[in-house]
Amino acid sequence: MNFDLTEEQLMVRTMVKDFAEKEIAPTAREDDVNEAFPREIINKMAPLGLMGAPIPQEYGGMGLDWGAYGIMIEELGYQSQAVCSTVRAHISLGAQSILQWGSDEMKQKYVPDMAAGKILSGFVTTEPNVGSDIASIECMAVEDGDSWVLNGTKTWCTNGSQADYVIVIAQTDKEKKGRGLGAFLVPTDAKGYSAHAMHGKMGLRASDSSEIALEDCRIPKENIIGKVGDGFKVAMSAFDRTRYCVAAGAVGALQMCVDASAKYVNDRSQFGRQLGTFQLVQEMIAEMRVECEAARLLVYRAGYLKDQKKPDTIATSMAKWYATEAAFKGANNAIQVHGSYGYTNEYPLERILRDVKACTILEGTSQMHKLIIGRDTTGLAAFG
Ligand SMILES: Cc1cc2nc3c(=O)[nH]c(=O)nc-3n(C[C@H](O)[C@H](O)[C@H](O)COP(=O)(O)OP(=O)(O)OC[C@H]3O[C@@H](n4cnc5c(N)ncnc54)[C@H](O)[C@@H]3O)c2cc1C
Repeated sequence: MNFDLTEEQLMVRTMVKDFAEKEIAPTAREDDVNEAFPREIINKMAPLGLMGAPIPQEYGGMGLDWGAYGIMIEELGYQSQAVCSTVRAHISLGAQSILQWGSDEMKQKYVPDMAAGKILSGFVTTEPNVGSDIASIECMAVEDGDSWVLNGTKTWCTNGSQADYVIVIAQTDKEKKGRGLGAFLVPTDAKGYSAHAMHGKMGLRASDSSEIALEDCRIPKENIIGKVGDGFKVAMSAFDRTRYCVAAGAVGALQMCVDASAKYVNDRSQFGRQLGTFQLVQEMIAEMRVECEAARLLVYRAGYLKDQKKPDTIATSMAKWYATEAAFKGANNAIQVHGSYGYTNEYPLERILRDVKACTILEGTSQMHKLIIGRDTTGLAAFG
């Protein structure tokens, strides 16, 4: 068993850490307050190749392995969950879905521009009445001559009002439920597509979350990704990728909590002693650090399995559930360590708490991941 990172993985860590410190950290607080989409940051990431990091070089990407890609997301997540969310939705929900399921023409047409960050993408299953149970999707896609015509309402689409293309999972045959779903690549300038950014979110405020209305939205027939009936599989395979990214980003956030807390308890004194000399304070930091290391190992193992092309769904579920819950608990404890200062946005901790709360809900709630792991362990399904 080898726990050493490869040279490429180490290089990616150094490069992205440096980028995130210089380009993301300075505006992370302000962007959160103003709900400002990090477009300039994305524009700076693109020429470095980061918007196509795990995309194969033949499609214009960097061709990073899953381990290195996870480390990139971890370092982005150290400074900003909102940037992480924007990037993972574009790369792992958008571009990689086309790469895995799209026709050769579709891959050639869209993936290089996505990898170069020239076009931005999103992906949506969620609807006002449909969250965890995606087989019940109500949005309809009907074949009409050379087109598909989409009607319905989607919600919570990351990048929905900023993207150039959104992959919409829609129903083609109500009777078939999950087996009738299709995945459709919808240009956001198509007639009948409208997106409205949602405001007032608890966290991930700089990440765009949008409601989408599809009203007789007509798209070319060739914009189906895969075949009719593949939509459920397209979504599940996309989730295996983004759950990994959500977990990696949460590890970054938790590492920030550890580092900020370790520094603070050296700098601040009470009762004539540094805070770090109190055992109850050390206990909070020690727990945070162990849970961060445990989460990181789960993430790296899931990445390793992906790189080996071995089944990774359960390992990814474990990493996503554990890392996001550990990050939420760690952010709470980091605020406690910082006392009243931690309760303000002078430090990033209250933002991390709000942001990682979302990570316990999106890409499968913690409860759904427990059910997935429980089903695999017992052989008995508690849902579906
Ligand atoms: C910031 C943010 C970004 C998002 N981005 C996207 C995106 O880009 N694309 C997209 O499609 N969606 C996105 N979502 C939506 C997200 O995927 C859903 O919120 C998630 O799937 C849960 O669905 P729901 O919120 O409708 O909750 P529900 O499914 O209604 O669940 C509500 C509660 O019931 C529990 N529950 C549900 N079913 C069961 C069960 N069988 N057993 C036990 N407990 C159960 C859940 O765990 C949860 O606690 C985003 C959400 C957020 C917050």
